[in-house]
Amino acid sequence: MKFISTRGGEKVTGAKAIVQGLSSNGGLFVPEKFPQVTKEEMDEMLGMSYPERATKILMKFLDEYDEKELLSACEAAYAKFEGPDPAPLVRLDDGVYILELFHGPTCAFKDMALTVLPYLLRKGCDICGITEEILVLVATSGDTGKAALEGFKDADGVKIMVFYPADGVSKMQKLQMCTQEGKNVNVVAVKGNFDDCQTAVKEIFSNEQYNEILAGNNVMLSSANSINFGRLAPQVAYYFSAYLDLLSSGQIEEGEEIDFTVPTGNFGNILAAYYARRMGLPVRRLHCASNLNNVLTDFFNTGVYDIHREFYKTTSPSMDILVSSNLERLLFEISGRNAKLTAKRMNELKTEGRYEITEEERKAIAEIFDGGYANEETSVEAMYDVFVDTGYTMDTHTGCAMKVAVDWFEKNKKDETKMVIVSTANPYKFPQDVLYAVTGNDVKDSFKGIKRLHAATAMAVPKCLKELRDKTPRFTKTADRKKLFEEVLDFIKGK
Ligand SMILES: *Cc1c(COP(=O)(O)O)cnc(C)c1O
Repeated sequence: MKFISTRGGEKVTGAKAIVQGLSSNGGLFVPEKFPQVTKEEMDEMLGMSYPERATKILMKFLDEYDEKELLSACEAAYAKFEGPDPAPLVRLDDGVYILELFHGPTCAFKDMALTVLPYLLRKGCDICGITEEILVLVATSGDTGKAALEGFKDADGVKIMVFYPADGVSKMQKLQMCTQEGKNVNVVAVKGNFDDCQTAVKEIFSNEQYNEILAGNNVMLSSANSINFGRLAPQVAYYFSAYLDLLSSGQIEEGEEIDFTVPTGNFGNILAAYYARRMGLPVRRLHCASNLNNVLTDFFNTGVYDIHREFYKTTSPSMDILVSSNLERLLFEISGRNAKLTAKRMNELKTEGRYEITEEERKAIAEIFDGGYANEETSVEAMYDVFVDTGYTMDTHTGCAMKVAVDWFEKNKKDETKMVIVSTANPYKFPQDVLYAVTGNDVKDSFKGIKRLHAATAMAVPKCLKELRDKTPRFTKTADRKKLFEEVLDFIKGK
């Protein structure tokens, strides 16, 4: 299968798309066409383990990879998850389920893809005959950074550098990143918010002069952000797997359509659900849940994407994003794969902070997607209600999704379509905010929060968060966002 850029021009193999991360004109790589999953293949996958299902889905896109080797890589990746199932479904209520994607090594859903990406990248380099050292650059709103560091630490021929917004991540997220071990890693805080961080990193990618300097040092850039197709592909797999689990446990019938509600930031997770739908998975609607930074909610309602608005720092920091990069891939599809138009809109976004789609396109999107959001009170309320009614504790991001799902249920009382709410983080990753939501108690310290949350819920505390308490931060540097390339150079030169 070949991959093309949303802004036209390039056509590359899957391996190249993954190694390169971003197309040279700034566009995102998308599959030339959507591979289909047949009924026979669904039947076959029904009896498979999670790594086997993931391999099947990945091979649909990445047919130049070796299937056996890929299966071993997936098995090794998902063996790092706690518990027997890397993506278990929990039944919350009649027809309402939570898809827990946070059982990986860093307790957020990013692990679903970032435990597999290092293999895809390394093998991709072999396939493309690339001999340079790879430098993975990451801009993170909190969870990608840690998951990428953990995935790539001590990998051969790869260095990884993570930039996070100095005041835009939770205390636990910061501690997780700054205590990272491994000899090929670096973490730098950036003055500004996530959008500043992401823009600065994207500029390094598209700056020819920078890339020449790097090439002179035998270094090639790659990305572990969800703009990289290698992040997206493993995410498509869990939508199939969740559907198959519902089917095999008799909760749905063959071919029955279901809905997903997805807590959304950079639009990667929910885009993977859309891809699954395009590959033939019976998905009816996708509910895009935002927090107070509800630029996507407005976009779905009005067709106008406008970042001229206040930026809020919320208790769901991984969704504190105004420029959702992966929306570009949906725009590309909805415009009838019009690369020129997509490029024009992305340029408008860059220069004017705004673009508008046609009413026809808006309606086409509304056939599948709707957008909703939770504010700081309504997300807490949703988390509290679920806790009191069912005893289930969810994290703050999933709380936003819960609120959006509840709004949908209230507006559509007769709707009997089964709903899967995607849960993106372990509640202990945001212990103080979750404790407050379920008990009303405020504590000043994260570790005290963990202790109290454990007392209130009796949920097991994941090892990787417990251990953090005794670790000393290795990375303490804060940089100006105009000077990130200097940091990159220092790092590759070992300064
Ligand atoms: C990254 C993240 C999100 C947002 O996912 P996108 O793919 O960026 O839309 C939501 N919740 C948590 C906990 C995350 O880490």
